[in-house]
Amino acid sequence: MLTFEKLYSMGHEEVIFFSEPSCGLKAIVAIHDTTLGPALGGTRMWPYASEEEAIEDVLRLSRGMTYKAAVSGLNLGGGKAVIIGDPKKDKSEALFRAYGRFIESLNGRYITAEDVNISVQDIDNVYTETNYVCGVDKTSGGSGNPAPYTALGTFRGMEAGATKVWGERSLKDKVVGIQGVGSVGLELAKLLNDAGAKILFTDISEENIQRMKNEVSHSEFIAPEAFYGTNMDIYAPCALGATVNDETIPQFKCKLINGAANNQLKEDRHGAVLKERGILYSPDYLINAGGLMNVSIEFEGWADAKSRRMVDTIYNTTLNIYAISDEQNIPVNKAADVLAERRLESMKKIQTTYLGRGSDHRFPGSKVRHNKI
Ligand code: NAD
Repeated sequence: MLTFEKLYSMGHEEVIFFSEPSCGLKAIVAIHDTTLGPALGGTRMWPYASEEEAIEDVLRLSRGMTYKAAVSGLNLGGGKAVIIGDPKKDKSEALFRAYGRFIESLNGRYITAEDVNISVQDIDNVYTETNYVCGVDKTSGGSGNPAPYTALGTFRGMEAGATKVWGERSLKDKVVGIQGVGSVGLELAKLLNDAGAKILFTDISEENIQRMKNEVSHSEFIAPEAFYGTNMDIYAPCALGATVNDETIPQFKCKLINGAANNQLKEDRHGAVLKERGILYSPDYLINAGGLMNVSIEFEGWADAKSRRMVDTIYNTTLNIYAISDEQNIPVNKAADVLAERRLESMKKIQTTYLGRGSDHRFPGSKVRHNKI
């Protein structure tokens, strides 16, 4: 059940339910933390078995967005939305436009984008009603497909991993195993190919396997069931979450795990297990933030070079996180949280300074200041 106790414990500011029976809209927006800026996060459409399940999902995902934006150096808060419904049956123009009107009513506290089961067409309908949406098509002035930027960020994280493990940034001759050669995996493979790495890959889609063979010809296919135990220097999960778990860890022969998939560790404790076994893990929510960085600049005018420059910072941030992990003797996944929380705390502190915006803003927070005296 959604209770204030739960919101306090997870740190959420606001949870809003949108309802429009005429088109069957049932949406929940969770705004986790806006210390750094407006809450940005995609909308997911899913046939949740219960409202309880939808609430759990939106609370968990929105909190994750706060950490992702904070660790990536973005001036954005964390938020996420879910629409309860069957994407095959329940989509309509009215539903997405009604949803867009509700987003508009939040006055920019929450900015949405695509997530699971939401298409560019759906987002275009949302965009008809509100400007608080990003990830719109390039032809409508948006930033287009985020996958190449996500792949670039994952590649920069991998270079940081190589620097830490082998003492040099270059990935030349490193054997990299990519699991999943979809939108991001294929782009990552191209970058690795240019860098002179040896590429192994697996997938379950015949179409994507064939496309990979055509576009990155110096690569070798490995059957999915044999993949975890295959000899490789770097394992790059780019398909599913939770592939680092009690069954797979004993099979790994790699020294570095660095991929784009979300939530790679099945449980938090698997970060500690990797550390014990001497396998370096690059924090997933930082190294796959290239797509988020890319959409974040839509509001100031998107440009490829600007986006790439921002994504390149993932190299140094990943090194910083490894350093925190060493200094505090904590797993890398925890060290990423430390860096995110440090930034949030320090930015909260500077917000106590009164900005003196003139007579219209003479009294904001006056009660608080009075109490302090
Ligand atoms: P995608 O659907 O285009 O590609 C996923 C690929 O994984 C497909 O080719 C699919 O056939 C393959 N796959 C699925 N199950 C598999 C299995 N059991 N074994 C091997 N291969 C399997 O998705 P994507 O956009 O490339 O995203 C990949 C991952 O990165 C996802 O976890 C996604 O959440 C995450 N991610 C993507 C972006 C982005 O910009 N697209 C941003 C952040 C995170």
